[in-house]
Amino acid sequence: MKKFLAVFLVGMVIVLGFGTYAKLASMVEAGEKPDISPHHPVEEALADEGGSPESPEPSSEAGTDTPEHNIEDEKSKDTPPKKADNTEGEKTEVISLAELYKEYEDIVFFKGHPDDKRVALTFDDGPDEVACERILAILREHNVPATFFLVGENVVKYPEVVKNIFAEGHVIGSHSWSHHYMDEMSWGSIEREIHDTENAIHGLIGKDVALFRPPYGKLNRAALEFLGQDGYKVINWSSDSLDWKYPKNGNRIVSNTMRDAGDGAIMLFHSLAGPSKITSGIEAALPRIISSLRSQGYEFVTVDQLLSIPAYK
Ligand SMILES: [Zn+2]
Repeated sequence: MKKFLAVFLVGMVIVLGFGTYAKLASMVEAGEKPDISPHHPVEEALADEGGSPESPEPSSEAGTDTPEHNIEDEKSKDTPPKKADNTEGEKTEVISLAELYKEYEDIVFFKGHPDDKRVALTFDDGPDEVACERILAILREHNVPATFFLVGENVVKYPEVVKNIFAEGHVIGSHSWSHHYMDEMSWGSIEREIHDTENAIHGLIGKDVALFRPPYGKLNRAALEFLGQDGYKVINWSSDSLDWKYPKNGNRIVSNTMRDAGDGAIMLFHSLAGPSKITSGIEAALPRIISSLRSQGYEFVTVDQLLSIPAYK
């Protein structure tokens, strides 16, 4: 009985299988579409892999500023998705950040005159409750004026530090409200980032800032148009300390800075905020950088003095 059952079951499988095959074959011949799901996970996975090679790499420098000399390297990130063949008729601007800044050279600055024996120290991302005061003490001790590009969110957190920076004779500029990438922002967001910061600083020092440093050094055309119409000058940099990358390494900060510290240099530092950031590197480096440049005959000035432009509107 068991043997009969087994033979019967095998027979049924063969018959049903052949029946299905025969039905499919007849449908294909008749031009019908077989009702088979097109879902092929393996093919889909391959398509996914092949479908997203254009995804931009996450920035290795998120949280800090992109050095000027990296702007050329970042060209690919400034262009829209590379699907020119598929986007016929679509009006998207394909232009590098360097080319865009070239169009706005009346408001975008990277350095002063090449034969000017003056340099400007700039400090981004403050105020904070530790680093700014330590940097202020070093600048006071060496009688060096500097320019601080402040983040609006931090301005409202540490108002007394903002007042101290101004009271000690340094110039204050804007570094946006939230320190997000502004090359990806709409006009409305750009307006909020700029005006909220301007208003917060005005409430503390009674001045409308006219110097703007974009987070990561990046802006889009809308932001450049807005800043130009609003009486701002965009201040990038020509010498990068990379202090955010080597927060405890004073020697490295000195060598990074001095590499491009020449006539008319605008030098980028950070008032590194936050509990995980150590200020020992910049504390060790700053006095050495100041002494070295002074011994070479350089004078320290604020960015507005270096470029002969107003610091405030
Ligand atoms: Zn910054």
